[in-house]
Amino acid sequence: MESFSPDIKKLFSLIHKNEKIVAMLAPSFPVVFEYPQIVGMLKRMGFKYVAEVARGAEETNKQLLALTKLHPDRRYITNPCPTVVRIIRNKYPELFQYLSPIDSPMSATAKICNKKYPGCKKVFIGPCIMKKLEASEDRPELDILVLTYKELKIVFDIEKIRPEKRDMLAVFDIKAVPTRLYPVSGGLSQSAGIIEKFTDPEYDVVSGPELVEKTLKEFANKTELKLLDILNCNGGCIAGPGIASTDSIDRRRQKIINYWNKR
Ligand code: SF4
Repeated sequence: MESFSPDIKKLFSLIHKNEKIVAMLAPSFPVVFEYPQIVGMLKRMGFKYVAEVARGAEETNKQLLALTKLHPDRRYITNPCPTVVRIIRNKYPELFQYLSPIDSPMSATAKICNKKYPGCKKVFIGPCIMKKLEASEDRPELDILVLTYKELKIVFDIEKIRPEKRDMLAVFDIKAVPTRLYPVSGGLSQSAGIIEKFTDPEYDVVSGPELVEKTLKEFANKTELKLLDILNCNGGCIAGPGIASTDSIDRRRQKIINYWNKR
């Protein structure tokens, strides 16, 4: 096991110790895996439960909407992207006051799992390397192990886990539907109803490093902008660095929409 990443080793350690583990699957998973096979494969590998992180995204939306209702005059920059959070902390500290102080979908899902499955170890599986820092630096108390889809594929290869017919019967233990669009740029605004609640100049949806930089530079002076829905990867988390896919961004987006449409 020498050449595997430390987080893959940690996962194997949990499995070999027969720990109760819950997988928290990020909403971008349909870009790389099929549902429901992925749930069956995770369970055969040793996960006791599999939760859809889209469920935590519902809490993120609720918290954000509650804030905008409580403080209608304040301005917010969304915080689910740990890269954006770090750009603000390191490069634009004057904007830190605008970062929405709410749970990201990963953190909110971890809290739901803590309540529903006390004592269970939580493993977030997603498209993002920076989520490892969010877990270890920002929310260490939640004790989340973070793996990328690329790492999960390595684990499946090692364990020789392939989709099987019986996986077609698997279902999420915790699920949500409206927030399945979250990994697409603008998914937060769409699923939280921001589009209906705010006028055009009052909210903006931005993704991609260049636009992120430009928008953050202008944010302080653009006082009419009340809510900035922002993700660092171009097109949203469907373009995260933890995804191994040759699909175009349009094709990835379509896969997310198809899964959302399944309901
Ligand atoms: S946009 Fe990219 S960096 Fe930001 S949370 Fe999504 S995958 Fe991670």
